[in-house]
Amino acid sequence: MKTPPLPRLRAELLRWYRRNQRPLPWRNCPTDVYRQMLAECMLQQTQVATVIPYYERWLERFPTIQSLAAAEQDEVLKYWAGLGYYSRARNLHSSAQQIVQQRGGKFPGSAEEWMQLPGIGRYTAGAICSIAQRQRQPILDGNARRVLSRWFALRAQPSPRTTAKLWQLAEQVMPKNNCGDFNQAMMELGATICRPREPHCDTCPVTRYCQAFQQKIVQKIPVKKSTRSTPTVHLICVAITHRHRMLIRRRPPRGLWGGLWELPTHPVSARQDRTEAWQQLWQELWTGNNAQQPEVNWYDSRVRHQLTHRTIELTIGRVNMTSWTNKTPVTSARWIKPAERNDYALSRVMSKIWDWVVL
Ligand code: SF4
Repeated sequence: MKTPPLPRLRAELLRWYRRNQRPLPWRNCPTDVYRQMLAECMLQQTQVATVIPYYERWLERFPTIQSLAAAEQDEVLKYWAGLGYYSRARNLHSSAQQIVQQRGGKFPGSAEEWMQLPGIGRYTAGAICSIAQRQRQPILDGNARRVLSRWFALRAQPSPRTTAKLWQLAEQVMPKNNCGDFNQAMMELGATICRPREPHCDTCPVTRYCQAFQQKIVQKIPVKKSTRSTPTVHLICVAITHRHRMLIRRRPPRGLWGGLWELPTHPVSARQDRTEAWQQLWQELWTGNNAQQPEVNWYDSRVRHQLTHRTIELTIGRVNMTSWTNKTPVTSARWIKPAERNDYALSRVMSKIWDWVVL
């Protein structure tokens, strides 16, 4: 590992950033702490192009931290529905409530204080502090990791030790002033030029200082983790209808699609088939009811949904209960008309299934 000439690298990078940064909506108001906090939460694990329409729609409904704190969680989840990783929305909502109710609407003033709020880690705290609050704080997201690894020709395997080293480098490269712009410039370089595969070194403003480029080892850095296949989780998802109404229920507050609404699902364990899983789902929905359980018509094709650490595979079924008299489920489920679907927050995959079974 070799240290590049930092003063020149910083100056070139900042010059390039000022001329080439993308016009993103949260860059119109860099010192608006609420908007930066929102943008950082939405951008975690999510592409910029996906975030923009959500960010704009969100601000129309929740323009201030106070309006977000006063909202019901159901409505907050509805405005997040489709963005994925729903714990981010619950944490953002709960952080807003803490800021308004416990701090009188005053935002935290240091990275340590920010990190005491739910869902705010070192990266998010560093980004808000450096960009919106003009403090000297490092950041380290996926783009910055790659850029720093290449600038310093860091050949270490991904590990907690490597992460600690990269945080140290992120601190080392920070300028005394304009730290927020520098952090954004480093991430922008990673997002637009120093791409994971085939970086555009020919248009990069800092090739002269980049140690990986100088040593002709760009393709080898960052060193990749040995790939492990992600496990597959099997679920059944049953569209239960009764006189043009569909049964939906709310998922538990934590975990996969936490707090969102769904067509009832149930895991299928390794030793089960879909019929046994349906029996268990039925018991959950109509506990203690001894009436004959209706047959499910299963669709042949399945729905696959890729998450970062696992694949979800859903087998979809359909049951019509129109002739059934005891139609009242015992759990937090409810019957809704197709036209009411937009009143409920559904995950993206559940929206797809809904369209598939309702249309
Ligand atoms: S020279 Fe290439 S590898 Fe180095 S920072 Fe620029 S784009 Fe990345």
